[in-house]
Amino acid sequence: MINPLRGMKDLTFDESQRFVHIVTTAIGIAKKYGYEYIETPILEETALFKRSVGNSSDIVSKEMYQFEDKGGNDVCMRPEGTAGVVRAFVHAKLDRQPLKQKFYYYGPMFRYERPQKGRLREFHQFGCESFGEASVYEDFTIITMILQIFEALGIGFDLQINSLGCTTCMPPYKQNLVGFLTEIKEELCEDCNRRIESNPIRVLDCKNKTCQSLLVTAPKLIDDLCEECGADFKKLTALLENAGITYKIDTNLVRGLDYYNKTAFEFVSNDIGSQSAIAGGGRYDKLVEFLDGKPTPAVGFAIGIERIMELVQMPEIQKEGIYMGAMTPEAVETLFPLATQKRKEAKVTLEYNSKGFKSHMKGADKVNARYAVLIGEDELANGTVWVKDLESKEEKTIALDAF
Ligand SMILES: [Zn+2]
Ligand SMILES: [Zn+2]
Repeated sequence: MINPLRGMKDLTFDESQRFVHIVTTAIGIAKKYGYEYIETPILEETALFKRSVGNSSDIVSKEMYQFEDKGGNDVCMRPEGTAGVVRAFVHAKLDRQPLKQKFYYYGPMFRYERPQKGRLREFHQFGCESFGEASVYEDFTIITMILQIFEALGIGFDLQINSLGCTTCMPPYKQNLVGFLTEIKEELCEDCNRRIESNPIRVLDCKNKTCQSLLVTAPKLIDDLCEECGADFKKLTALLENAGITYKIDTNLVRGLDYYNKTAFEFVSNDIGSQSAIAGGGRYDKLVEFLDGKPTPAVGFAIGIERIMELVQMPEIQKEGIYMGAMTPEAVETLFPLATQKRKEAKVTLEYNSKGFKSHMKGADKVNARYAVLIGEDELANGTVWVKDLESKEEKTIALDAF
């Protein structure tokens, strides 16, 4: 028997139904907000992620599903969706069009790390990217959209927000932070010590308890935002409050990817063990430029599908469609064209083997059919079918051509 690769998993039955429900719900809502589908390759040049997600991020430094292909190219299975969508956006020269562009995507993402509970090597995300809109109203609208998706799926959450500033206010803050971190260097963990040089902002995100307690007094960027970032953040919180959306400002929320600026947010659930993010995103106004496009403001998010799989409240399954069965072998000949005809308008399950009544009724139950349609010797002789409505339990025999 050949098993799936380590950290990879099949989705079948209950899980695959949940997957489809999550994706179709999210697509339905994204469309209402003007998003259109984009499909980008799973395999990309490694350079794409190094340049966008950032060399010092955990994703690029430790977790890339990276290899050399037969042509000697350095390639990588996408670890996240935004980089590929932005590359596609620039490649199609959409950055040169005046129209605002909005895309949604869903599909597998890959990270080569030690598999553990809730962290697979292949996992799935649904995401949206909105290009060309600098207004903070768009940040708010994106948050509203995620909220609507989670409400439709019956998932509870906490919303956490932060501002990561811009090229005006981030660099002086970073310097300030490095000064603070250097003073407490000895007491910080190894990871943090490495990050003081490479990516000091990520230190704020350290999960180590000692580090966390030391960082309580760290300088906070939201106290040092430039005028524009400060005004945007204030506007965002006002919009959330006016809409009655509860949020928490988390000054340590840095998202771990280099491309974010200004608004950053995470939707967090307490229902999957320790508090973990079920969706996250924010503004990334510099990324299009990083990837050789024209400067284009952008904001987006991704939902971790596996993270919410268990949390989704599935709609009650309704009895649907028709189950057809023959109780005498010759009747299959009659049922076959009937099934083909009915499939133009309804879900039809046709049992090819002739069986007894009870066995057919079990079959109809198994596929959750609304109607059972059987032909036995009598029906065959009279040119009729026996029909039972499995919801109202009403049964009748009707002429074949009236069915
Ligand atoms: Zn700023
Ligand atoms: Zn640390």
